[in-house]
Amino acid sequence: MPTLQDLDADALASFRAAKEEEFAALKARGLKLDLTRGKPSSAQLDLSDALLTLPTTTKDRSGADVRNYGGLEGLPELREIFAELLWVETDQVVCGGNSSLTLMHQVLTSLLLHGGPGSERPWKDEPALKFVCPVPGYDRHFSMLADLGIEMVTVDMFDDGPDVDAVAALVKDDPAVKGIWIVPTYANPSGAVVSAEVAAALMAMPTAAPDFRIMWDNAYAFHHLTEDEAKSADALSLAAASGHPDRPIMFASTSKITFAGAGVSVVAASAANKAWYLKHLAMASIGPDKINHLRHVEFFGSADGVRAHMRKHRDIIAPKFDAVDVALGTALDGLDVAEWTKPTGGYFVNLDVLDGTATRVVALAKDAGIALTPAGASFPHGHDPRDRNIRLAPTFPVLEEVETAMAGVATCVALAAAEKLSGA
Ligand code: PLP
Repeated sequence: MPTLQDLDADALASFRAAKEEEFAALKARGLKLDLTRGKPSSAQLDLSDALLTLPTTTKDRSGADVRNYGGLEGLPELREIFAELLWVETDQVVCGGNSSLTLMHQVLTSLLLHGGPGSERPWKDEPALKFVCPVPGYDRHFSMLADLGIEMVTVDMFDDGPDVDAVAALVKDDPAVKGIWIVPTYANPSGAVVSAEVAAALMAMPTAAPDFRIMWDNAYAFHHLTEDEAKSADALSLAAASGHPDRPIMFASTSKITFAGAGVSVVAASAANKAWYLKHLAMASIGPDKINHLRHVEFFGSADGVRAHMRKHRDIIAPKFDAVDVALGTALDGLDVAEWTKPTGGYFVNLDVLDGTATRVVALAKDAGIALTPAGASFPHGHDPRDRNIRLAPTFPVLEEVETAMAGVATCVALAAAEKLSGA
């Protein structure tokens, strides 16, 4: 079949009529499906139910009573597990509460209020503040910056990470550019894995700001969908080796490993950054929930325990990602109206439809009872200049629902493209 663009007016009109009929049938089914947010499914949450009856003791390895105050850095045995998983030193790790996003917010607010290692003044006293945002990216990273009054400058996200030349050009002469978001492994939503070369370039590039920070959000470091398990670039060592040890601050959590919103979080950084972080944290907390830390230590046993656990997640969710690919491929292959990723890890599929049709696709899907993330959600202020990007999150619904929803989405993509090409 020729691509949709190549069809003559009559052929395009009959393609559109066929898709309109397909869409009417879809609507008549009265579906109620939701692919909006990257949440674990109930079956995934069930994998961690043993946590509900842990811990079996009240003491950590050193004999400290986990029911009491103290231990700001988190349980050493949990820090060890994360250090091994993230390829950092235990000394560099602090384990926190139930949300890594909260840690990122704390880091940014402390930088704003006080500045950090290398800062000339608190960020709030700078004449202007900007962050580089690879797009598409994580919507909550962007809304956090917007809320804190930090201007966002976008660069493209490629298969091996952000467009480093574009990043280097932005940071080189402008001291207002203070940082960048990076989701290095199985990025949200593109699934890209930052290569060691790109990571090294980011850590080494000259920046006008002396306190430039790379917010290295490794939320999906262990969330492999295939046996080809990507290894995250070694951010802290690369930064130290290039003379900028304080540039990256690494984050992760077990939100999509154990319980979303009831897991444990982690920050890893240079000695100076860690001391700075703990100094400010001490003003806000007498210590983390060590019972939850111990519960997770008992549940996993070791870093290998985490890896084995993640393979169980993979078995549940990999078929859903396959279903997305099959549904889109079956309906759209050859039409040249959409491109989508086939991620090897993470939680999302990135769907790029014909320019100018993403909003229409999401509206059509909504009309047919299929909730999708709003078009543009993966861009700062929700504005996708090409109106083509849609983030698909297939983990939460059961497999049959993913299949049904995605066949429906494919119909909407084709119909919206036919409408656009026929000028209405
Ligand atoms: N970082 C990224 C890239 C995410 O996609 C998410 C959740 O979707 C989070 C952080 C949230 O992490 P947490 O639950 O630890 O706050």
